[in-house]
Amino acid sequence: RNVLISGGTGFIGKHLTNVLIENGFSVSILSRSYKQNLPDTSYYIWDVSNNHIDEKAVLNADFIIHLAGENIAEKRWTSKRKAAIINSRELSTKLIYEVLKKSNKKLDAFVSASGIGIYGAINGNEICTEDTVPADDFLGLTCQKWEASADTISGLGIRTVKIRTGLVLGKEDGFLKKLIPIFKYRLGSALGSGKQYMPWIHINDLCNIYLEAISNSKMEGAYNAAITDNTTNTVFSKTLAKIYGYLIWLPNVPAILIKLVLGEMAQILLKGRRVSSEKIGKLGFKFQFVFLEDALRDCLEK
Ligand code: NDP
Repeated sequence: RNVLISGGTGFIGKHLTNVLIENGFSVSILSRSYKQNLPDTSYYIWDVSNNHIDEKAVLNADFIIHLAGENIAEKRWTSKRKAAIINSRELSTKLIYEVLKKSNKKLDAFVSASGIGIYGAINGNEICTEDTVPADDFLGLTCQKWEASADTISGLGIRTVKIRTGLVLGKEDGFLKKLIPIFKYRLGSALGSGKQYMPWIHINDLCNIYLEAISNSKMEGAYNAAITDNTTNTVFSKTLAKIYGYLIWLPNVPAILIKLVLGEMAQILLKGRRVSSEKIGKLGFKFQFVFLEDALRDCLEK
C-alpha cells in the first residue's frame, strides 16, 4: 500500500517515512522541491501558492498523511507570516481535495496534522479533551481552519483523522535541537513564570499514532497526541538540566524579554495547556514513552 506524505521532508515526515517503510508500506513524498539523501521514496512536486499539484501524487496513493505547512515557530508572526502559516495548510488541503473530488478517487484514509494549539494559549489546570471548545487566538484559529479544510475531505466519504500534536521530542530536529547547546553549557533555565504546561510526545510514539491512524479503520476525527502529565516549563527545564548533570542556577528568563525578541510568537513558549490522551488510549494505543526523563534521555542518547 502506498502512503503519500505531504511535507514528508520535514522533522516528523522523515521519521514517519522510515517507520512506514519498516512496516511494509511504500512511501511517496509531496514536496515543493526535490531533496537528495532521503530514504527510498518516490517524489511528487507541488506549488501551493500557484495552485499546482502533480495529480499523480494523489491518484497513486492509498493513504495521504498531510504534514505540510510553513513552520509555526521559525519566524516572527508578522501579518504576512500569519497568512503564510494559514494558507500553506488550508490551500494545500484544498489542492488535494480538488484532485480527489475531480477524479472521484477513494482513499483508504486522509490523516492531517493539527496542533494542541487549537485549545489556545491559556494558562490553567483544565485538561483539554477533543471536545473542548477551540480557542480564537492565532494558533486556535489556524488549527480550526486547518481541521475544517481536512473535514471537506471527510465530506467526500473518505475516513479522515486529525492528529492534534503536542511538542514533539526527537533526536535530530525540532524544539529539542534548539535547546541542546543552551543546556549543554549549563545556561538553560525556565521561561517566564515556568508554570505553563508543555504537553510533549516522543517522535516514536507520534509516528506510531500515524501508523495506527492509517491502519485502524475505527480511527476517525480528532485525537490528541501528547502525554497527559504534570510537565510544566519548570519541570521540563529542570529535567533537561538534570540530564546534563546540573541544577538550574540561573533565574527564569523574564517573559518581557522573550516577548521583546519573539513578539506575539512568544506565547508558544510562555503559555500552555494540559491535554488528555484518553481518547487514543481507549483505542488500545500504548505510548512507548510516558515519562519525560526517559523520553529526553532517549532523544539525547544519555
Ligand atoms: P517541518 O517544518 O519540519 O516540516 C514541514 C514540511 O512542510 C517542510 O519540510 C516542507 O516540505 C513543507 N512546507 C513548508 N512550507 C510549505 C508551504 N508553504 N507549502 C507547502 N509545503 C510546505 O514540520 P514538522 O515535521 O515538525 O511538523 C509537521 C506538521 O506537524 C506541521 O504542519 C506542524 O505544524 C505540525 N506540528 C508539529 C509539531 C512539532 O513539535 N514538530 C507540533 C504540532 C504540530 P518541502 O520543503 O519538502 O515542501
